[in-house]
Amino acid sequence: MNSLKELYKTGFGPSSSHSMGPAFAAELFLKGCPAADRYVLELYGSLSATGKGHLTDLSVGKIFAGHPLQILWKKEELPGHPNGMIFRAFDNQGNQMDSWQVYSVGGGALRDQKGAVLLESEKPPILYSHSSMNKLLAYCEDRGMQFWEYVRQQEGEVLEDYLRKIWLTMEDAIQRGLDASGVLPGGLTVQRKASSLYRKSRMSGLHSRRTGLLSAYAHAVAEENAEGGLVVTAPTCGSAGVLPSVLHYLSELLKLKSHLVVQALETAGLVGNLIKHNASISGAEVGCQGEIGAACAMAAAAATFLYGGSNRQVEYAAEMGLEHFLGLTCDPVAGLVQIPCIERNAFASTRALSIADYVMLTDGGHRVSLDGVIHAMSETGHDLPSLYRETSLGGLAKELKDNEIHE
Ligand code: SF4
Repeated sequence: MNSLKELYKTGFGPSSSHSMGPAFAAELFLKGCPAADRYVLELYGSLSATGKGHLTDLSVGKIFAGHPLQILWKKEELPGHPNGMIFRAFDNQGNQMDSWQVYSVGGGALRDQKGAVLLESEKPPILYSHSSMNKLLAYCEDRGMQFWEYVRQQEGEVLEDYLRKIWLTMEDAIQRGLDASGVLPGGLTVQRKASSLYRKSRMSGLHSRRTGLLSAYAHAVAEENAEGGLVVTAPTCGSAGVLPSVLHYLSELLKLKSHLVVQALETAGLVGNLIKHNASISGAEVGCQGEIGAACAMAAAAATFLYGGSNRQVEYAAEMGLEHFLGLTCDPVAGLVQIPCIERNAFASTRALSIADYVMLTDGGHRVSLDGVIHAMSETGHDLPSLYRETSLGGLAKELKDNEIHE
C-alpha cells in the first residue's frame, strides 16, 4: 500500500477520476512535450460517457490553456481500465511527436503501462508492510499499537504536517459550502442546501440536530465539489463530504484538539488505503460502493476511534460501513456529480456515526472481516454491468428525461 498522501489529495472537483486525474495527466504530458503545434486527447469508456457532466474537458482545457487542443470522445473502453485516455502531440506537418496512454484509476491517481504514475511533487510511494486488515490487527495487538500509531511508524512524523493541511482544506470546504447559496451548474437546477440545513438544524431538537448538522456539513463539501471547488479526495471527490462532515461534527461536539483529528484521519486513511489497494475506489470500476461505501467505512472507523474504540471495534465499524453499501450503483443523472451523489454524502455521514454508536455497544466481535467485505465489494463491482458503473446509461441516470435538464 502507498502513502496516505496519495489517498488524501487536494484538488478541484467535481470528480477525482474524471476531472482531477485527467488534469494531472494533462499537466504531465504537457510538461514532457511542451512545444507541439497541436494536441489531441482521446477520452475512452466512462471518461467519454460522463466526461462532459464531470467537467473533464474544462479541467484538461485549463491545463492546455494557450495550446490548441482537440478532444475526441470515444465510446469504447481501452483494455486497462474504464477510464482510459490517450494524449497525442503533433508538429506543424501533422507528424505525431509523442503519445501517452494512461488511465485515471480513482481518487486522482494515474496508471500507465509501466504502473503507478506520480506527479513531481509526490515522493516515491511508501510501501506499507501489511496489506490486509487481519494481519494489521495481529501486528498492532502484539505491540499494543493503535492504527494511527502504525501509520505513523510506516510514514514517519512528516505525515502529521501534511494531514494538518488536509484538515484545514476540509474545514475550508465546509465553511465555503455553508456560506454559499444558489443553483449548481449543469442544468439540473439543483439548489444548494447546506446553508438552510445548517440553520434549521441549529433550531432542532437533539436527535434531528445531529442528522441535520451532519447532512449540512456533507452537503457543504459535496456542493462545493459539484461546483468545481477545492476539496480533498476522501477517498474521491464524489464522496469528499462524508469524512469531513463526521470529523467536523465530532470535533465541535467533543472539542477535539487537532492532533486527535489527525489521528482520526490516519485511522480512516488506513481503511481507505486497504480498500484502494485490495479492491478499488473508482466508481467506473466498481460502482458507488467503492466511493460512498469506502468513504462511509473510513468515517465510521474514524468516529469509532474518536469514541475511544479498540482496534477490533474500529475494524468492525469499517466493515459495516462498506458492507451495507455493497452493490451500490454509480448512475449520476446527466453525468453530473449531483444526483444522487450529494445526498449520498449526507446519508453516508449519518450512517457512519450510527455505525460507531452501534459498534461501541458491542465488544467488536463479528463474523465477516473487513478483508472479506473488501473482497466481496471487488467481486460485486466487477460483476456489475457497465450501465451501473459511471456511464450514466442505466438506473437513476435514465429517470430524468432530456427535456427536464436545462442546459
Ligand atoms: S454515484 Fe457515487 S460513484 Fe457515481 S459519481 Fe456519484 S458519488 Fe461518484
